[in-house]
Amino acid sequence: MNDVRTLSEIASYHAHVYYAGPGERQRAEWLRQRIAERFRVRLGNWRDEPVGPHEQAMYQVSFATEIFATLVPWLMLNHGGLSILIHPNTTNPKRDHLVDPIWIGRQLAVKGEVLGDEDEAEAALEVNTEPTLGA
Ligand code: ZN
Repeated sequence: MNDVRTLSEIASYHAHVYYAGPGERQRAEWLRQRIAERFRVRLGNWRDEPVGPHEQAMYQVSFATEIFATLVPWLMLNHGGLSILIHPNTTNPKRDHLVDPIWIGRQLAVKGEVLGDEDEAEAALEVNTEPTLGA
């Protein structure tokens, strides 16, 4: 039997919001603005080309563990058909992305071969949103 893993392994989370084509990019813009209005997170740059393990255009949302309980259910209700990958950041990026994530919307392929299985766990990145609305 494996040892029980504890929540202290999770330094932060990412949500990756994927889009393909102009219509989905518009929905991704709509979502990004509304996330910024409601949550203290780090919104990453638009990545209109595949990058790293991500096979589709996307942007990243980095957030602290205490944001999970509001942001993730809100994304469930508001993803508008977009695929969103939510993964923990522990010391094993490959496992975080391939084995342990959750998906909102349709699950997409992730290129696991570019990910390592031992790294420093990434803490939540500096917040760059100033929310004014409740979730
Ligand atoms: Zn990520």
